[in-house]
Amino acid sequence: MKIVLQNLTKKFPNRNKKVKGDVIAVNDFTFEIPDGSLIGLLGPSGCGKSTTLNLLSGLLKPTAGKIFFGDDDVTGLPAEKRGVGLVFQNYALYPHLTVRQNIMFPLENLKGADKLSKEQMNEKVLEAAKLVQIDELMDRKPDELSGGQQQRVAIARALVKMPKVLLLDEPLSNLDARLRLQTREEIRRIQRETGITTIFVTHDQEEAMSISDLIVVMKDGVVHQIGKPQEVYDKPVNLFVAKFLGTPPINVFHGKVEDNKLYIGKDVIFDSVNVDNKEVYVAIRPEGFILKDEGVLGCNLTGVEVMGRDISVVSTHECCENVAIRSIIDADNMVNVGAKQVRFDLKPNKVFLFDKETEERIDYQL
Ligand code: ADP
Ligand code: MG
Repeated sequence: MKIVLQNLTKKFPNRNKKVKGDVIAVNDFTFEIPDGSLIGLLGPSGCGKSTTLNLLSGLLKPTAGKIFFGDDDVTGLPAEKRGVGLVFQNYALYPHLTVRQNIMFPLENLKGADKLSKEQMNEKVLEAAKLVQIDELMDRKPDELSGGQQQRVAIARALVKMPKVLLLDEPLSNLDARLRLQTREEIRRIQRETGITTIFVTHDQEEAMSISDLIVVMKDGVVHQIGKPQEVYDKPVNLFVAKFLGTPPINVFHGKVEDNKLYIGKDVIFDSVNVDNKEVYVAIRPEGFILKDEGVLGCNLTGVEVMGRDISVVSTHECCENVAIRSIIDADNMVNVGAKQVRFDLKPNKVFLFDKETEERIDYQL
């Protein structure tokens, strides 16, 4: 099911008397979610992710704009008629019901022509349970399950009616690191197997990047960029997006362009950029550094962190916003840990320039 958001806006009345105007949780969203895809809605806490999901599910009514499922305008349609499955961070299972009864619950509420026989219900419940691999735990109660298992039950419950759209609001946040990894792979597998158009909300960029076909990066109710994870990582439209994606984070320096030379401090980084004279942010991905004695950029070496296959050279620079600059280089490189200075050459495709005022990316050629 293709989903279209058209100028979708949601305002909430402001309860803070010191600030004027409404809170614009979702500000004029217009984009299309392709049929059968998994979309990651990504942004810091409070940026409007849950509000967007609640608008899609029908739990909230928009202030303006429209939502289409396929060719149907569902903006005025109540939640129960939208064919949407919802999963929340806190599982929200019924504690007194068994796994089987929890998964069956949405089916028992079906009325009229949709009503199912006990046999049909059991069949659907088992099918959903198998999909999330909890079919051996059907008679347990939620408090007899691990967090990961509880979340699987919640996903099965959302899937049992075979929704047209599956909405997941930070579904992995309550799981420990290993389970988070495992469960996100599971969600990807289930999404592939069912082909259900799925919107996955998270504030964790790595999570969104790893499983999404497309990511939507948002901040303060505004969509900043939509694209394939790698495209957004390689061509962030602005400084916010560049900083939000990537671990360790991108290293941001204050620099300037003068007579086509790009400077960080006194060092000339590139000597022929086609950019007008101005101050810029120079943002360098951790993997953009090449250790080299006569390299273009000198930093103050503070340490080396071993990460197995790679090492992370930690340094500082007076022009850098980051407290510590992290440069990821191959572990075969030898770093003289006793040295005060370390020099790097830079990979141009890992170096972005941003306008100091608009913070938008400046395209440049060497
Ligand atoms: P996220 O899920 O990205 O953390 P939300 O969608 O929950 O963000 O919230 C977006 C913004 O809308 C926040 O500023 C939040 O305080 C505000 N907000 C959310 N729900 C309400 C509400 N019912 N009343 C007033 N403000 C709200
Ligand atoms: Mg939220």
